[in-house]
Amino acid sequence: MSKDKKEIDVNELTLCKSTAQMLQRMRADGVENAFERASDMKPCPIGAKSACCKNCAVGPCRLNAKDPYAKNGGCVATIDTIQARNFARMVDSGSAAHSSHGMNMFNLFRDVVEGRAPDYTIGDPQKLKEVAASLGIETEEKDDTIIASEVCEAVGMPPVLGMGSCVDNSRILMAVTEMVNAGGMGGCRDPGT
Ligand code: SF4
Repeated sequence: MSKDKKEIDVNELTLCKSTAQMLQRMRADGVENAFERASDMKPCPIGAKSACCKNCAVGPCRLNAKDPYAKNGGCVATIDTIQARNFARMVDSGSAAHSSHGMNMFNLFRDVVEGRAPDYTIGDPQKLKEVAASLGIETEEKDDTIIASEVCEAVGMPPVLGMGSCVDNSRILMAVTEMVNAGGMGGCRDPGT
């Protein structure tokens, strides 16, 4: 952080007490964090309005939010399209990240259930029962391992292309893929479509 930069109150950055504590500790240890780097950077005025597109090699196409309809992108995208696509891609990226995280968690869970991860155990049997109940699985008088196995069965899908079994998030993957496809070069000129 620059020496002349105003120090930000960590309580303005987060409502989470643990995160505030961590940020304070980082500050005390002289470790820079993302919030400080962001506040120490002058945003690009075009990027700040999300008026720049670099979805394809024709661009980057930079439009001017102060005169928004004076120009279109090379593929005829309007500023509305570019801003909508940029926003959609941010959401898309977040969805892909959470989906991937979910798949990794599920794969580890299944490894635990099937005895391939001896360093892990089911740490919260009550939560396991709650998840099972949410899936309509009966838990009365069943061993945790059986319940866990039935949870795997309910949410998983068989191994695909030798990559191991994974949670059935195919609908999320389809939505994520379609969003990138629709927002590609020349796609979705009308953001309402
Ligand atoms: S997709 Fe369109 S607006 Fe984006 S960089 Fe390519 S030509 Fe420019």
